Amino acid sequence: MLNIPCPFCGQRNESEFAYGGPVKPDRPQPDKVSNDQWVDYLTQVPNPLGPVEERWWHVKGCGTWLTIWRDTRTHDIVEEPGDAG
Ligand SMILES: [Zn+2]
Repeated sequence: MLNIPCPFCGQRNESEFAYGGPVKPDRPQPDKVSNDQWVDYLTQVPNPLGPVEERWWHVKGCGTWLTIWRDTRTHDIVEEPGDAG
């Protein structure tokens, strides 16, 4: 079970949150990219082995949306990876 750091409520149990999914790249203009790139944007979900940036909604708490980095290998919340990582 994750303990997620809410900026308003502090460390809270994962059961108080709703998963909002991974943070995706900015939506491209459909007429500025190839069909393959557009289909990839619509259908591909970031699923790296390692840190992934995710959105969570503190739905049973203060109601804020927050972004965390979670390591998919350990399920631990980690610091935002730097340029060296
Ligand atoms: Zn909160």
